[in-house]
Amino acid sequence: MQFYSRRKKLIGNSQTEQLYGHCLQFYGQPPIENISLSEFETFAVDRLKLLKTVENLGVSYVKTSELYTKKLDAEFSNLNFPYKIEASTKDDRKHQTGPSEYEKRRKDHISHFILRLAYCQTEDLRRWFIQQEIDLFRYRFNDLPSKNTQEFLQYNNLHYHTISTDEKKNLMDKLVTSSFALSGSTVDGQDFYKVPFQDALDLVRTRKVYLKGGYVYIPHQDIVTIVLNDFRTRLSKALALTARSLPAVQSDERLQPLLNHLSHAYVGQDYSIQKNIGKISLEQIDPLSAKSYPLCMRQLHRGLRDSHHLRHGGRLQYGLFLKGIGLTLDQALQFWRSEFVKGKVDADKFDKAYAYSIRHMFGKEGKRTDYTPYSCMKVILSNPPSQGDQHGCPFRHSDPELLKQKLQSYKVSPSGISQILELVKGMHYQLACQKYFELTHIIEDSGFSLNHPNQYFMESQKLLGGPGAGVKVEVKREDNPATKPPNPSPHQTPGPGNLPQEVAAEITEDLDSFFQDA
Ligand code: SF4
Repeated sequence: MQFYSRRKKLIGNSQTEQLYGHCLQFYGQPPIENISLSEFETFAVDRLKLLKTVENLGVSYVKTSELYTKKLDAEFSNLNFPYKIEASTKDDRKHQTGPSEYEKRRKDHISHFILRLAYCQTEDLRRWFIQQEIDLFRYRFNDLPSKNTQEFLQYNNLHYHTISTDEKKNLMDKLVTSSFALSGSTVDGQDFYKVPFQDALDLVRTRKVYLKGGYVYIPHQDIVTIVLNDFRTRLSKALALTARSLPAVQSDERLQPLLNHLSHAYVGQDYSIQKNIGKISLEQIDPLSAKSYPLCMRQLHRGLRDSHHLRHGGRLQYGLFLKGIGLTLDQALQFWRSEFVKGKVDADKFDKAYAYSIRHMFGKEGKRTDYTPYSCMKVILSNPPSQGDQHGCPFRHSDPELLKQKLQSYKVSPSGISQILELVKGMHYQLACQKYFELTHIIEDSGFSLNHPNQYFMESQKLLGGPGAGVKVEVKREDNPATKPPNPSPHQTPGPGNLPQEVAAEITEDLDSFFQDA
């Protein structure tokens, strides 16, 4: 891809046809047109939102259920991705008010490739990305009418042909007895594909299909499995190849910070600006930590109270969270000082070595940057804790046995612990945290999708009617998940094109350096 500030369409009709001839893609060819940096960012963030929804729904609902499909339908249409076969005649297009089908397919294509760049960097990221893309692909493939399924297979050189009604009638008995979970009545309404047996070894090995003359006869519901296997193999190879080209991409100073932040991206509210500043007293912190803190912050608070010290990663993560729930600068200074002086740091050393960094966090020193509390993605994906550190996300960074003990000590029921550990095993850390929220607040369904420790706190306070219940947060997308630029110019449009590099890449490190142990 090339990136210019003004979009130019360089692709001819035949290439367009080749790229976007079908509403569903295997993403075999990378985009070759020029796009603006702001479009680059919008597309990436929208796809990320979609994949996050896919992840959340995938754990909450059966993936083929009506409710799952309905919720994904809504998300698709809201974000303007192609999700249904749309009218494509000239007359119909004239009456369209939203983006055309071409625009939607283009967005689908380009956004997928941008996230490939961002999510090829580590094994964890690759695994997460492949899983969500596969779920998305399954939902879309299942939604295709039979005619379009055939078109899709031909289009992608997958030579699986449906058998004729006569052939199906002749083989009816064999198909019913050999095909897994089929009865005579469902064979009638079911397309059967004739596939070389070597493409369906899984089904042959488990004896789930009828095999004759080197071909297997696969019902429609199972062809999905084969297409998905193919998609998974292609995508995982493509991600490995993309990872090899990363050094070249990362040398582009406009893209490198953007891609890094995309892979840690948090797409939601900004918890740095809130209106209940000062409404929480220092005496309320202990009870609040037991009732309304997510596990990461509860662990940090406990660690601080026990050892009267936190290492810099912990001070940064917890300090910004406290700022986000409404502590003023004076309260924060008092809070940290009173705890540190109980340990090995005297008041003088605290003022010299630590007070500056707390004022810095509140934007009162240095570059006067208003630092934003860390999102779950940032906590989970960056700066993993090492020996002696208390920061990080316990669902991601704790040993399962330790996590189990921690949950037991917080009186989570054995069945609740099993559910949480199951989610952790599947690497659904935020969903595990959401389950912890539901279990500790004794509710069936939290009704929100967890992205941020401060969101956890706010939702808890809403439920409990506590002092943080009235926290108002500004609803905006976080352009840079770690920070906001100081004093943005009123003429600046948000977007990576205008992200000062020092804001995008250096500012967090800058803050980090203030938190190093003296
Ligand atoms: Fe904290 Fe988020 Fe992990 Fe929950 S999922 S413990 S809120 S980082």
